[in-house]
Parts: sequence; structure tokens; C-alpha cells
Amino acid sequence: MSNFLIIGGGVIGMMTALQLADAGQQVTLVERSECGQESTWAGGGIVSPLYPWRYPTAISQLSRWSEGAYPTLALRLLEETGIDPEYRQKGLLYLDVDDESRALEWAREMGKPLKRVDSRFVAQKEPQAAASERALWMPTLGSIRNPRLAQALMARLSAMPEVTLHEGCEVKGFIRQAGAVIGVETSQGPHYGEHVIVCGGAWAAELLATLEIALPVRPVKGQMIAFQTPPGLIKRVMLKAGRYVIPRADGLVLAGSTLEEAGFDKTTDAQALALLKQSAEAIVPALAAHPIAHHWAGLRPGSPDGTPFIGAVPGYQGLYVNAGHFRNGLVLAPASTHLLVDQLLGRKPVIDPAPYRLEGRLA
Ligand SMILES: Cc1cc2nc3c(=O)[nH]c(=O)nc-3n(C[C@H](O)[C@H](O)[C@H](O)COP(=O)(O)OP(=O)(O)OC[C@H]3O[C@@H](n4cnc5c(N)ncnc54)[C@H](O)[C@@H]3O)c2cc1C
Repeated sequence: MSNFLIIGGGVIGMMTALQLADAGQQVTLVERSECGQESTWAGGGIVSPLYPWRYPTAISQLSRWSEGAYPTLALRLLEETGIDPEYRQKGLLYLDVDDESRALEWAREMGKPLKRVDSRFVAQKEPQAAASERALWMPTLGSIRNPRLAQALMARLSAMPEVTLHEGCEVKGFIRQAGAVIGVETSQGPHYGEHVIVCGGAWAAELLATLEIALPVRPVKGQMIAFQTPPGLIKRVMLKAGRYVIPRADGLVLAGSTLEEAGFDKTTDAQALALLKQSAEAIVPALAAHPIAHHWAGLRPGSPDGTPFIGAVPGYQGLYVNAGHFRNGLVLAPASTHLLVDQLLGRKPVIDPAPYRLEGRLA
């Protein structure tokens, strides 16, 4: 029996496993399909909420901590696994923002470098960007290639003697004993743990519903496309009117994303493709000359205001949750997993855990 049993091998489950194993704990992780293939794979990998000044403080706190942790984490994974998660801190350009004053005030309060820049500055940084009268520049932000991040995490976990991974292992329900949760029933038989941690992303609510716990997490579909361009066409993430382009080192340029309430449906459609293409070309007109190499959809774990649920499940000894990161699970992962691991190991939490607790937030 492991000390810790984690359900779900997305970025949240895998980073939780990594930190527990780093602390010398025995960890079992069970994943229904393959690790890192759901929202964690489908996301864009911007290491920031899209327009961070429009989010609650609870999200800014996690994000700020994570942004500081990513460079070291990416280097560590590259060194330990040989897989480069492509963390690139090239800064972020916000084109035509209509709440600039609010953004600048937020940046002052948060101690973030953010400044107003003109069209000449934008053209210097990104010669292919559409002409833009007003822009904001955040030099410290970056992006991560999330499928590679997942591969690197998986490779690292597979090599750690403290970690046991079970893929193709679907959790069907919880095993209880005298009011405590002590394990799970799965498609591969029972697994036990002193602490059971639900990191099931968009499926976390379905899992908890088997215990009649109403976690307000729902799937929110996001479609994205990727253009194949010569490497270096653009160098950094750019946002305009709520949509964005993200360059990868090999020349892929991702463009996203839609926000759709469609249940667990992950199909893509031509209308979304046309919309995403149009938005991307409004940011970088030269993209029109390049083919679209990929089009996909993923399911974000949506929560009411995007604040994840992190902590013990009230009334169920031994049961914990880390889910509901909505549009920001990649950026928030290092901090939110650290915060839960702090609580599990009785360490002083890196930030105040109160805003993320489940108490008073269940439906
Ligand atoms: C289009 C799009 C763009 C995005 N862009 C960004 C971005 O730029 N920046 C950012 O920070 N975030 C972004 N996100 C959000 C981010 O991807 C998610 O918030 C994050 O990946 C959630 O991670 P997770 O581990 O909670 O969920 P997931 O990655 O979905 O992992 C949950 C895992 O649990 C497993 N599971 C579920 N049920 C069971 C079961 N019964 N038994 C066993 N295993 C189970 C699933 O198979 C899955 O592997 C984006 C998301 C999308 C869809």
C-alpha cells in the first residue's frame, strides 16, 4: 500500500507525484488512458493567465509563484530526462487592450514589469505582427511546450523508485472503511493508499459524484489549430481580442482558442477552424500563407471563477482534491501541487491555502 494514491495523470497528477516522490514518499498514480493526453496535451502552454489583471487574486497568487518556479523545473526535467519542455521566456505582447489602465495598476500592485509600448516597439520585437496602435509588453512571461512537459514528467516519474504508474487503469469508485477513503476500485482491480488524491481534471466531478459529493467542475471544450511555418517566423506569444498565437521552436504556430459548453464532446468543426484562422491572421497576417497542420480540441476542467479546488474533502478522511484549474492549469500547476503537497506533508504552505479549500464551495 502506497502512502499516496493519485487519480489522474495530467499535469496536476504528475506534478503532485513528482513532489511527493522528491520528498521520499511512496506514490501510486492511476491513469485511465495514457498520462498527459487530455487537457494537459491539448492546451497552449502560455505560462500566464491570458489577461492576468482580469482574474481574482487567488489565481494571481498561484500564477506568480508558478511563473517563478517554471524556469528551474524545465531545466531540471531537461537535465534528468533529456526531454526539453521548451520553456521560453520571450515576453508577451498584448495588442489593442481596452483596459490598459487597469492592467498597469494591477502590474504595479503585483510588482510585475508591464509597460505601454508603441507600434515601432511592436514592429521591432515582432516584424510580422499586424500594425497596432496600442500594445502592452510583459517581458518576464513565457510559454512551455505542454506535450513535451508531460513527456518529460512521465519519463522522470517512470525512473523514480518511489513511484508506481498504472496506465489504462480507470477508477470506477472509492473504497471506504469506517468513514475514511482507503483506496479505489479500478478496471485493473483495487488500489489502496493512506491518502487518495483526485486529480481527474474535467472528470473530477464525475469521480466525486460516486460519493455524492457535488464538486462544481465541468468540461469546457477548447479548439485550437497549428500552422506549420518556417522556424522563427514569430518569436513570442501575442494576444489580441481574447485570442492568441504561440510559437514553438520547430516553426509550429498554435492559435487558440474556443470556449464551448459541449459536455464531454471533443469533436472539432470547420466553423471553429475558420474563426481561429481569422483571429490568428489578424495578429500575424503572414500566417495566411502557411498551411494548417493540426486542429484539435480538449476539455478544460472549468470551475465557477477559475479558482481551483485544492485540499481535503470535508467529511471524508483520507480524500483530497486538486482540480478545476480551467484555462490556467499549466501555469498554475507548480504552485497548486506544491500547496497541496505542503498540506499533505504538514509543511508550512507556500501561500495561504484558504481561498482554494473545498469548505463552503461545494455545490
Ligand atoms: C485549448 C486549450 C488551451 C489551453 N491553454 C492553456 C494555457 O495556455 N495555459 C494554461 O495554463 N492552461 C491552458 N489550458 C488549460 C490546461 O490545459 C488545463 O487546466 C490543465 O491541463 C488541467 O490539468 P489536469 O491535470 O487537471 O487535467 P487533465 O490534463 O485533463 O488530466 C486529468 C487526467 O485524469 C484522467 N482521468 C479522468 N478520469 C479518470 C478515471 N476515472 N480514472 C483514472 N484516470 C482518470 C484523465 O484521463 C486525464 O489524463 C488550456 C486548455 C485547453 C483545452
